[in-house]
Amino acid sequence: KLIVFEGGEGCGKTTQLQLTQTWLRENDRLHQFHYDRLLVTREPGGTDLCGQIRQVLLENHDEPMDPRTELLLYAADRTQHVEQCLKPALQRGDLVLCDRYTDSTVAYQGYGRGLDHGLIDQLNQIATDGLQPDLTIWLDLDVEVGLARAQNRGKRDRIEQSDLAFHQAVRQGFQALAESAPERFQRIDASEAIATVQQQIQTAIVTTLNQ
Ligand code: C5P
Ligand code: MG
Repeated sequence: KLIVFEGGEGCGKTTQLQLTQTWLRENDRLHQFHYDRLLVTREPGGTDLCGQIRQVLLENHDEPMDPRTELLLYAADRTQHVEQCLKPALQRGDLVLCDRYTDSTVAYQGYGRGLDHGLIDQLNQIATDGLQPDLTIWLDLDVEVGLARAQNRGKRDRIEQSDLAFHQAVRQGFQALAESAPERFQRIDASEAIATVQQQIQTAIVTTLNQ
């Protein structure tokens, strides 16, 4: 099964992924699941090569990065990640938790940067070879709250430095995606306490594992 974590800046994805991993380790052999069959990975940056693409994407450069350059770099990262990492793991029957996937590209490059949605769908199709998540956990949070959290965390990457309107458009993108694919989307209110959010994530994962 492929379970993806999505959300805007400061939504708590990293924290919740770590807590989820700990929970799965402590509940080894529950829900027909074995902890040694778990892969936790991320986009961008899920393999060595992808790590280099991530650096190019997130560092500031002397020249502005064209939005299409950005889109193609995400597509390159995803292609490599799917082939090297996700497909082999899923073929082995592993459970995969992935920090960001195709929906981030729709939300950030489509809704945020305003690139053509048909083009993005086409590139996502090429990059994934049709591999879709079984569950998408969307940690939804007010944009200003999230940006304040991200700021408190310290150094911000190139994209976190974008303006408020950009991040608001990204959130609208996730909202639209959740409405268009309700069968795989689980929206969770990320303004709730960490433990409350984690509880809801666990419930969603158990449901998916039992399907
Ligand atoms: O989730 P994470 O913080 O690792 O993502 C790295 C950065 O890449 C974030 O600032 C996020 O906004 C950005 N990003 C993006 N477009 C994507 C995926 C991530 O702009 N498709
Ligand atoms: Mg971030």
